[in-house]
Amino acid sequence: MTIYWERCDFCGQHNATRECTMFPELYVCPHCCLSCMKRNVCPNPAWKFSFELKPAPRPARKTSGKEALLDLLSKLEEKK
Ligand SMILES: [Zn+2]
Repeated sequence: MTIYWERCDFCGQHNATRECTMFPELYVCPHCCLSCMKRNVCPNPAWKFSFELKPAPRPARKTSGKEALLDLLSKLEEKK
């Protein structure tokens, strides 16, 4: 999916935006998407997880589920 850097149609800030699933004519930034009241009825939210904000390539999939969980937790820590 292509990511555009343009004005979010919901908050008006310049941010990474994606086409909104609920309103295809609008572009939504991750912050508005994640706080959207319609997420519970949205079939496929444009933005799913906050760590998707980072365009860095994902590391190779870990074989251990525990390692994968620790990796996820470390990503969440970085967001604070
Ligand atoms: Zn926004």
